[in-house]
Amino acid sequence: MSDTDSSLVSVVGECRGADLDKRTYLPGLVLRAKCPKCGDWMERDMADDYLSYPVVGERSAYAMCCDCDHEINFGVIVHLTLEVVP
Ligand SMILES: [Zn+2]
Repeated sequence: MSDTDSSLVSVVGECRGADLDKRTYLPGLVLRAKCPKCGDWMERDMADDYLSYPVVGERSAYAMCCDCDHEINFGVIVHLTLEVVP
């Protein structure tokens, strides 16, 4: 419980550049991709794997390797929200 009425506080604007950590883990999220070469599904649990220095709102390159040694490359973007709570 805070001593300020949260209806009197607001967040204005849009986050455009918070730098996250060298190793930014995102527990609860899993990246899944189907290998275009062999058709197998790959998964990366972001509680164990990490993004390196992602910047909020900007594309980060990410690569996943399949058991058949095929590598797929794609981009991900981290979005952050800041919310006032009571
Ligand atoms: Zn494969």
